[in-house]
Amino acid sequence: MPAADAPENLPAATLSLTRAEAEQRAATIEVHHTDITLDLTRPGPHFDSAVVIRFGLRDGVAAGAVTFADFKGVGLSSIELNGEPVDPHGWRQGRIPLSGLRPENTLRITGTMAYSSDGEGLHRHTDPADQKTYLYAMSFLAAAPRWFACFDQPDLKSRYTLDVTAPIDWTIVGNGPGTQLAPGHWRIEPLAPLSSYYVTLVAGPYASCYREHDGIRLGLHARASLVESLEAEAADLFEVTEASFDYFHRLFGVRYPFGEYHQAFVPDFNAGAMENPGCVTLRDQYIYRGRATRAERASRAGTVAHEMAHMWFGDLVTMRWWDDLWLNESFAEYAAHRCCSEGTAYPLWTEFGIVRKDWGSVADQAPSTHPVAGNGAPDADAALQDFDGISYAKGAAVLKQLVAHLGDEVFIAGLRDYFSRHAYGNATLADLLAAWQRAGAEDLDAWARDWLQTAGLDTLSVGAAGRGYELRRAAPVGSPVRRAHTIAVAEVDRTGRELDRQQITLTADRVTLALGSVDTVLVPDAADETWAKIRPDHDWPDLADLLPRLEDPATRVVLINAWRDAVRNAEVDPDLTLSALLRVAGVDAEDVVAGSVLRFCQDVLAATFSPADDRARRTAQVHAVASDVVDRSVSGSDRQLLAFRYAIATSSDTDLLRRWSDARDLPPGLVLDPELTWAVVGRLAELGAGESVIDDALDRDPSAAGRVHAARARSAQPSADAKRAAWSALVDPSDLPASELYAVAKGFFRPTQTALTRPYVDRFFVEMPATAAFRSGWSLGQVVADGFPLSHATPDVLVLAEQALAGELHPAVRRSMTDGTDVLRRAVAAIEPC
Ligand SMILES: [Zn+2]
Repeated sequence: MPAADAPENLPAATLSLTRAEAEQRAATIEVHHTDITLDLTRPGPHFDSAVVIRFGLRDGVAAGAVTFADFKGVGLSSIELNGEPVDPHGWRQGRIPLSGLRPENTLRITGTMAYSSDGEGLHRHTDPADQKTYLYAMSFLAAAPRWFACFDQPDLKSRYTLDVTAPIDWTIVGNGPGTQLAPGHWRIEPLAPLSSYYVTLVAGPYASCYREHDGIRLGLHARASLVESLEAEAADLFEVTEASFDYFHRLFGVRYPFGEYHQAFVPDFNAGAMENPGCVTLRDQYIYRGRATRAERASRAGTVAHEMAHMWFGDLVTMRWWDDLWLNESFAEYAAHRCCSEGTAYPLWTEFGIVRKDWGSVADQAPSTHPVAGNGAPDADAALQDFDGISYAKGAAVLKQLVAHLGDEVFIAGLRDYFSRHAYGNATLADLLAAWQRAGAEDLDAWARDWLQTAGLDTLSVGAAGRGYELRRAAPVGSPVRRAHTIAVAEVDRTGRELDRQQITLTADRVTLALGSVDTVLVPDAADETWAKIRPDHDWPDLADLLPRLEDPATRVVLINAWRDAVRNAEVDPDLTLSALLRVAGVDAEDVVAGSVLRFCQDVLAATFSPADDRARRTAQVHAVASDVVDRSVSGSDRQLLAFRYAIATSSDTDLLRRWSDARDLPPGLVLDPELTWAVVGRLAELGAGESVIDDALDRDPSAAGRVHAARARSAQPSADAKRAAWSALVDPSDLPASELYAVAKGFFRPTQTALTRPYVDRFFVEMPATAAFRSGWSLGQVVADGFPLSHATPDVLVLAEQALAGELHPAVRRSMTDGTDVLRRAVAAIEPC
């Protein structure tokens, strides 16, 4: 049947797979093999995709059973089940019903699919630098059927073969290497069965670097226009990759099972990276076009190790349903930080404390919080909303507590048991707990209930009791659980020197300490080991003096996080906090801490958490500190570069910014690379320097990255015309790449443009929900999150936000609006009493 006769199915109109449907389907069928044939040579917005799926009925399922396949193409050409045609008009909302199943079946589906511009399905990017075309496939979370028909759920694994017809000069890589059978014809045969959401394809005139390590062929790939940067980064990337393989092989006792290991740095990527077995895709911002700091390289190393950890957690053993997402993400997060810190040149636990845990702590206190495990996601769309700081950072922090509780030997022995017992299959939380128990752990049910299956954070505080001091634990209001915390309490004097430390496993709400005096400060969880809100035993003004003097870097991270948390709880004045944290930015030995603090000062304390009429003053205060750090730093150092970025972003001196944009009057040791240039241009645009500075910069840097920067800069301009154009991009359908769309969203509501953008706040809450009619997946929620009017933290806007939440919303829009509204509510409360 010709494609034109088939019903039109837009991705937004497809059904989200429910858990009940997934269980039913997995109980009915098992999938043996899937052949995918793609023709990528046709010009235009579409490509041809044909599959042959061989599948059988599970033991005990009677012949004649029914099920359905997932297909989210734009046109269905033919369906054939066991040699008989199936009426394509049964295809509705992304599903093709199948009936009369036999014990063994062959399903053939041929259709036309659309290339995507939103980073899901088979994404197509035309590089503005040289007009070359690049493809990559992203099947996560439910996007596999956007490029091939399949039974799309984690626990229906299949073996795959891909046959790809493409231009002869392309590189073709997938979950196995692409073997060219004839000019322009490749075959990819992954070594092991895969969940559908892991199937990928990277195709285009990519530039590549190769190496071999321990019998594993390693490949790095990026667009040809990035080849110089790729080659410059290859040594560091290979080094981290090799060290991570060595570490995980030692730790897990199971060898990497997927053959070659490719890392493709691809354009317009929504996430940081995706752990496709044998072929990880990563955002190509990791191939730096400008100078990167060591802290940024460390963060990239963390991503490389995270994706590799998934080859075991996720790829080899996969969660049965999305509500055990933590089995993938929490473990990968934990294992990556451990691997980098113990096995590479990039220790990462400080980053975990200052960046990742703060992210998770905000998520765990928002109305959208959920348990780490068993989050109850009723369908795949709902599950996607839980890819947040809880699934990553909280889960990993909880695993650190578990290591403290079980001991490392039992912890690792349980993991090895889990990998070998469930290899190439699926597993659940109960399977993992059983593996630890076989390894010698005592009954873990209570631990799992308290830490994994209950949301929220305890508060650990210190206070005077009788003639001494006590450590106190308070569960979140209404929570029935009492979590045990294995932590250290530190006693420090006013000069920041640690006098003593007490190790405690806290199992009661109050425990008397053997520490403390009127002249010292007690800090619970001084080594940053648990998951809790921390409150030291002194007033915030006292701590402002102590913070920059603290000797122990982990204790300082704990206190900074406590302080940020207290601001969000309206317990401490944001303006006092700004002064206190800026003192840290100048002295902390670690760039990742200085950077995190400066970001918080700029984006939160001088913006959302500031009255609108005080923002210019607070921004100038950030600028003064950043400039001072630039002046005092060693010429050419990372700290100088880091501080200079903030000096640019907070400057209000357009003359100086113009000189910097021409590489004049730069502080010695700094060189204007493309990224630094765009930072200056972006700030100039925000201050109203005019369209021409953006046009000139884009002429000099007509790359994909340049376009993203230009999109943000145009949106940030303080003019009615610029806002009108940007708004249209946000709420009207277009084929703008998702990366540019997010940039427009981030640039729109700037902190010092509230008068100009106030009319758009009302429109935001009406028009953004309507974008669910033409956006789907990741981009739908991301635009709402990036564009949320956080600069308007006023009671009247809070009312508007709450009214919007009372209405009907797509789950992705609801999640972003819920989280944005939570920030607004906290900001209004924090600003009000001042
Ligand atoms: Zn991950």
